[in-house]
Amino acid sequence: MRAVQITEHGGPDVLDTVEVDTPSPGPGEVLVRTTAVGVNYIDTYFREGIYRTELPYIPGSEGAGVVESVGEGTPDLVPGDRVAWCQTPGSYAQFVVAPAEALVAVPDGVADDVAASMLLQGLTAHYLITDTHRASGGDTVLITAGAGGVGQLLIQMAVARGFRVITTTSTGSKAQLCRELGAHHVLLYPEATPEKVRELSGGGVEVVFDGVGRDTFDTSLASLGRRGTLVLFGAASGPVPPVDPQRLNAAGSVFLTRPTLGDFIATTEEYRERAAEVMEGLVDGSLVLNVGATFALSDASGAHRALQSRRTTGSITLDPAR
Ligand code: NDP
Repeated sequence: MRAVQITEHGGPDVLDTVEVDTPSPGPGEVLVRTTAVGVNYIDTYFREGIYRTELPYIPGSEGAGVVESVGEGTPDLVPGDRVAWCQTPGSYAQFVVAPAEALVAVPDGVADDVAASMLLQGLTAHYLITDTHRASGGDTVLITAGAGGVGQLLIQMAVARGFRVITTTSTGSKAQLCRELGAHHVLLYPEATPEKVRELSGGGVEVVFDGVGRDTFDTSLASLGRRGTLVLFGAASGPVPPVDPQRLNAAGSVFLTRPTLGDFIATTEEYRERAAEVMEGLVDGSLVLNVGATFALSDASGAHRALQSRRTTGSITLDPAR
């Protein structure tokens, strides 16, 4: 099969396309023929070596496809089933072996590329909005990078729960997208100052969801109202340097949390519950997942370059047929 492989950490050029043996499913596992692969920012951290894994490896952790064959002990799945998965290593490939419990059924109305992106980013937006803070409907939240993959879903989920949403982005066309998704105020970075956020929110927001990290952290902290929560969930601009806890006191007894998806889908039950809610939204149309661009599997480096140079909006996928 064709797969993308990394033999050394580095820039997008370390993403090579190679021929490797198609894997076989063991007990409790399923072999899936991929129809679309999800590209996520975390893939760039692994590629660069910010997060470590053994070399060589096939990057990627999510996608969608069709069950090709099943190992022993997977009674609920049969060849031909449409499925999606996340947190499964080796997804930048034409075939993926996944544990049966990682696979969720994809309803007919959900397209392959949407299915390939709905879990990692969808479940992230879901746990961020449901389980990382104490704010409730009517409160104002700030979401950084609202036009991005997680950002677009988070705006919609926040609006649906009655939050007032302020979001930030870098260009006029991205700002337009955020407005179409329901954001109440969209700030381009130069005007996204704590003063402006405090003015729009009447004294500071209840929650900031910050996936940008280093470049926005200070602004995010200074945008919080008293006893607000800064949910730092990513590092698109680089990791945040160590923080003196005294700063949380000075900012108004605020809370700082740095959550990760794995802890919010730690049981199969929780994983499936969150996935079902995301899927329900996609099927009934209350949640829209925009796939901003699709690259050939053999051009995974192009996908990473586009993502890291802020040229993308929404989710990014790879087409394993090309
Ligand atoms: P995005 O589609 O949001 O892409 C990143 C966006 O960040 C860019 O489009 C850009 O938007 C913004 N950005 C701001 N500054 C920079 C910079 N210096 N370099 C690059 N981008 C910058 O990516 P994802 O939706 O895949 O991921 C968003 C964040 O969520 C990432 O940090 C990722 O690691 C994190 N994440 C965290 C999870 C968790 O559980 N903790 C799980 C999944 C994702 P703009 O041009 O509008 O500024």
